[in-house]
Amino acid sequence: MKKNVQEIINVGNNIFNKNLVSGKSGNISKRIKSANGDIVAITPTLTSLGNLKQEDIVLVDLDGNLLTKGKPSSELFMHLEIYKKRDDVSAIVHTHSPYATGFAFSNKRIKRLEGFGEIKDPYLPYIEYEKPGSDNLAIKASEGIGDSDVLVLKKHGVICVGENLKEAESLAIFIEESAKTQFITYMLNSAEDMI
Ligand SMILES: [Zn+2]
Repeated sequence: MKKNVQEIINVGNNIFNKNLVSGKSGNISKRIKSANGDIVAITPTLTSLGNLKQEDIVLVDLDGNLLTKGKPSSELFMHLEIYKKRDDVSAIVHTHSPYATGFAFSNKRIKRLEGFGEIKDPYLPYIEYEKPGSDNLAIKASEGIGDSDVLVLKKHGVICVGENLKEAESLAIFIEESAKTQFITYMLNSAEDMI
């Protein structure tokens, strides 16, 4: 388990250093599959993801029962609902990364730029605002993500999922860069007299 926990700590450091999870925002989890019932390791509530220690990571079962001490992220049930619906998902990274979240607060959608699998929809899927940490958000997000690997939460942030943490982390970085590229494109297109 130490290795799994360390992996979460490393991803926390990486995405904190890339400014995807400023302050105490964002959360990361990993599912460890087991015949006796899956275990989920998740980041704690109200703690910066940039400075996590082994003892900060909380272990729970799929029903949210605590297996270790500590207080899990307030979005624990959002993670658990996604794991329950998606057997192919074993890692979730949730951020409020600034460009992607800027789009989430606007009436513009983030285009799915090439890079991750077949493009079925030119825009990233999204759900309307639900209160962070609420059961409604957990239910709507787990339904809204469908079989996608990313979901925009309106007026809140982004969820990226993958079969492992590396994949979910790369996707979170890629989505933020996509949103940034799109933002710059909008700005340049609207600055008519720059040339
Ligand atoms: Zn959030």
